[in-house]
Amino acid sequence: MTRKIVVPFIPGDGIGPEVMSVSRKAIDAAVRKTCKGSVRLIWTELAAGEAAYKIAGQGLPLETLSVIREHGIALKGPLTTPVGSGIRSLNVAIRQALDLYASVRPVKYFRGVPSPVKKPEKMNMVIFRENTEDVYKGIEWKKGSAEAEAVIRLIGSMGAAVRDDSGVGIKPISEHASKRLVRAAIKYAIRRNLPSVTMVHKGNIMKFTEGAFRDWGYELARTEFPRESITETDLVLGCDFPGKVVIKDRIADNMFQQILTRPEEYSVLATPNLNGDYLSDACAAQVGGLGLAPGANVGDSVAVFEAVHGTAPKYAGKDVANPCSMMLSGAMMLEHVGLDSAASSLVGAVEATLGEGIMTQDLARLASDINPVGTTHFAAEVIRRVG
Ligand code: NAP
Repeated sequence: MTRKIVVPFIPGDGIGPEVMSVSRKAIDAAVRKTCKGSVRLIWTELAAGEAAYKIAGQGLPLETLSVIREHGIALKGPLTTPVGSGIRSLNVAIRQALDLYASVRPVKYFRGVPSPVKKPEKMNMVIFRENTEDVYKGIEWKKGSAEAEAVIRLIGSMGAAVRDDSGVGIKPISEHASKRLVRAAIKYAIRRNLPSVTMVHKGNIMKFTEGAFRDWGYELARTEFPRESITETDLVLGCDFPGKVVIKDRIADNMFQQILTRPEEYSVLATPNLNGDYLSDACAAQVGGLGLAPGANVGDSVAVFEAVHGTAPKYAGKDVANPCSMMLSGAMMLEHVGLDSAASSLVGAVEATLGEGIMTQDLARLASDINPVGTTHFAAEVIRRVG
């Protein structure tokens, strides 16, 4: 009997529809090749973004959210956030509405892709970034506003002097959100036999937010994964180790150095929001840039897979956008629904295509001897290599 998996998808704005269309074909090809008729994806298009504004007068119809909730997954193209119009980001709205608390970004090198570093193949990390608080909470007040003045007075009364002409922001980091994020990262490492989870924080300066993130993470590993994990400190003391995930932590500024000097020593990273924001782009840059980076926003019962780049409006409709990020996000989705072989087949086909020097202009322009191909041409080459 054929297992049918409903996959809600949002084509997105700008280059979204183009990269989504070819990615769906590549994903289908991988499923056909590896499942041999035992699984079929039922693609269900959902409205969001500019298309939804035109039809329904709103960028994120409730129906879209409820279908994603019902099926537990979605593949999403990039959505425009108009600058300065007061319309809030639909991407953030989706994450908040579905409580997608972990942003998951694997970063690995594909042979043949031009890179700014000497040994890009040493990078193979998965970044779990907290998606709901820290600076993403967006609590801040403008200089001179009544709220800013009130907060400055309040904290002044608690002994902390803040200049009167300051804008003020609040950076909350909770035990609940930190623990569920680190839990997801450790479970991911255990399931895939990965060697370590590193918490990246600035706890030397902010002890009760960033430092607490680290402390709660260690506490969680100790209480929930005592058999499956070991701390780096215990390891140094010579405790039992084989097969266990090593839990360690690094201060954020050091971590930026480590990703350049010793990337091979890191596997899964777990970070509060802002550290992860910076780190995931810095890591992606080392292996060829955002056009190659897949991503997922994951909660306890729903996961939305999406390319990490935006709508790149200047390339919309020109058949030049790089579809790799969307295709690889699709591979993450296949893995999430248990179709590991289809995921590997798709990733392998992308890798083989790039490895033969077939790439879109964003990558080709970084090398002197590669002629770029268009979006559909690149996708056809991937599909040919899937099988
Ligand atoms: P962007 O759309 O990611 O594009 C920035 C630049 O990145 C492009 O001009 C292009 O660089 C390159 N690029 C991105 N994706 C590419 C691809 N697939 N193939 C080839 N090149 C690619 O970022 P943005 O210009 O800051 O944002 C544009 C809109 O997208 C905004 O409305 C923003 O809010 C939205 N956005 C949405 C999401 C999301 O839906 N998750 C994420 C980010 C941004 P070159 O110019 O150097 O060729």
